[in-house]
Order: sequence, then structure tokens, then C-alpha cells
Amino acid sequence: MTETPPRGHSYFGFEQGPIRPPNEAHSLLLRVTRNCPWNRCTFCPVYKGARYSKRSVDHVKKDIDSVYRCVEILQGIADEHDGSPIAQVRNATDNLEPGEWAVFDSAFRWFRAGMSSIFLQDADSLTVRPSELIEILKHIRTRFPFVNRVTSYSRSSTLARIDEEDLKAIREAGLDRVHVGLESGSDNVLKMAKKGATKAIHVSAGLKAKRVGLELSEYVMPGLGGVRLSEEHALETADALNQINPDFIRLRQLAIPIVAPLSKDLMEGRFERCTDVMVAGELLTLIENLKGITSVVKSDHILNLFSEVEGTLPEDKERMLEPLRAFLSMKPEKQRLYQIGRRIGVFSTLRDMKDTQKMKRVREIYKSYGVTAESIDHIVSELMKRYI
Ligand code: SF4
Repeated sequence: MTETPPRGHSYFGFEQGPIRPPNEAHSLLLRVTRNCPWNRCTFCPVYKGARYSKRSVDHVKKDIDSVYRCVEILQGIADEHDGSPIAQVRNATDNLEPGEWAVFDSAFRWFRAGMSSIFLQDADSLTVRPSELIEILKHIRTRFPFVNRVTSYSRSSTLARIDEEDLKAIREAGLDRVHVGLESGSDNVLKMAKKGATKAIHVSAGLKAKRVGLELSEYVMPGLGGVRLSEEHALETADALNQINPDFIRLRQLAIPIVAPLSKDLMEGRFERCTDVMVAGELLTLIENLKGITSVVKSDHILNLFSEVEGTLPEDKERMLEPLRAFLSMKPEKQRLYQIGRRIGVFSTLRDMKDTQKMKRVREIYKSYGVTAESIDHIVSELMKRYI
């Protein structure tokens, strides 16, 4: 759970929220709002118990200015010392107050990563009044004109509500991409997961984002339908994506941490979790049914069983299906070995099973865990909790 600073108009210093998309690891994180305005998705533990609030434009601009000042210092040191500022930074930061460390630390990481992208936090920056978001974006672009990409999470329901002209103005002010949690195209799954959006809302929001020129990254959650809705989840999600044709489709397999409301449904028998083998079948159905689109599929989350299910549609479709078919045709014990190897971080693709050293290690751990056909799903779900 993220901390919510005291309410009121005072500035409490540079703030950052708890999460960002995996591909924004090198981005500067700027907090525009705190927590999630919806906060009801049953699979999501991130902001539960924390209240949503907007930060004032002035406070966000102060954060931007603080980073700007740090970058100026770092750039000055780098220019003086042949681009290698680390030792000199230590000297320059000796006198920083404790409250100034957070911003310096972020600025330093960003500086070292090349300062090419910025991600606006937290869960839905587009809930900020358009004129205010535009002011923030313009300030970012003035301070950091060299940045290639400014991105944010947004909910489909928010995008669907925003006036298209306002969204266009936000795009023109410098927002390049939105990351949207589509999760599923099935209305039954969306309702069960309390996503607060329907398939129609997802499609209309996605198309609007694309019309105004925003890059669109849609997150899909294999496994979210559970056993009962698995096939419908795959087919309806493929259909929604086929209608939207987003720039990116990002896969993130369901995991159920104890603080997520879905955990209670699981324990009380209202939700039956798919096994990894079922999720592989679901992914196969999903990808087989992606048709007529040109999206890039990414599997960049550690929770995914297959990191190699990535590529550009339509040309890489068959290549993406290969590991899924290969896994599904394996003997059950070999499937279990791969699952354990992947979940303990030794394997990242099926090809890793050909590495005798890795395979030896996995076999030892497999044996030490006492993995059987009966225990594999429980062991996998426990191992996955380490990544949430
Ligand atoms: S909208 Fe996003 S952040 Fe908010 S509860 Fe749902 S998944 Fe979590």
C-alpha cells in the first residue's frame, strides 16, 4: 500500500508512487495524482486502503523544477569530468538534506539512463482537468525538451469520457502514449473482476486514443477469467483487440496476492484459478484469434510463463504460437520442470531447457520441493507471489 501524504495545500516535497509499467524502468517517474480513482479491481492489490487525490499543478511543477536543478548539477559535473560524474556527484551531494535525497536519487538514475522518457503516475493521470494536465506537460517539455516520450496510465472509462478535442490538446501538449489496463474483452470477466469498463468502453476509448495520435499500450491479463470463463476471456479479448488494433499488446498473467479481493473469492470457492497449462492454452486461443491487426505483442512481465511470446503481428504470429504449442504437447513432468524453472528465475524461455547446467539446477530444486502432479499448482502460485 502506498502512503498518502497529509491533505491540504502545503508542498511535502518530491513524490513518487509505487508502480510503473515494466518498460518504464528507466523513465523519470513524476507523480501527478495519488493512488487510484477507481480502486475496485478484484485482482489488484496496489492501492487498496489508500485514498485517491490530485496533486496541485504548482506542486507537480515544483517536482519538475527540482529534478531540473539536479540534472543541471549532474550535467555540469559530467561536462567537467569527461562524462563520468559518479565520484564527483558523491562530493556534490555531501551536504544534501534528507528530504532532498529522493529527488536527487531519481534524477541521478534518470540521468544515468539517458533521460529519454518520463512516466506520469499514479493509476490514471487523465483524471486531471485537461487544462491542468496540459500545463504540466508544457512545463515538462520546456524543462526537458530532449525527452523522446512522455507516457501515463489511464483507465478506459476515463479516456472514453474525455472530450476528444481535449484529448487531442493533451496529445499536442506532449503526452505520447497511454498504458491502459484492458485486462479482458469479455463483459462477464470485466464484471466479475470489477474493472469498471465494458468491452464497448474499452473499444471506444482505445479508438479515441488512436484517433488523436496517442500511442496505445493495452494490458491483457491471461488467467483472469478463471477456469469457467477462460475460453470466453481469450476469444472476446482477441475480438476487442482486433477492433482496436493498439500499438502494443502487453501480457501480464494473473497472480493473486493475499491483499487482492480476488484472493477471498479464491478461498471461498467463487473463483477457480487456471493452472499454467490452462493459461498456455488460453494464450494460444488468444493469439490464434488476433486477426487483421499490426500490434506489437510484448511479454515483458516476470509473471508470464513465456517471455518469448513476443513479436509484431501479423508476421510473427506463427513464431509466437510455437512455444505455446511446444509446451502444450510436452509430457506433464516436463511441463512441470519448465514451470518450476521459470518461476524460480532459472528459465526464461523453453529453449533454456536445452541448457544442461540450468536443467540440472532445476531438477535439483524440483526434487527438493517435492513437486508432484498434485502439488505443482500450489507451488507455482506461492512462487509467483514473490514477484507481486
Ligand atoms: S484501475 Fe488499475 S490501479 Fe485501479 S484498481 Fe484497477 S487495476 Fe488497480
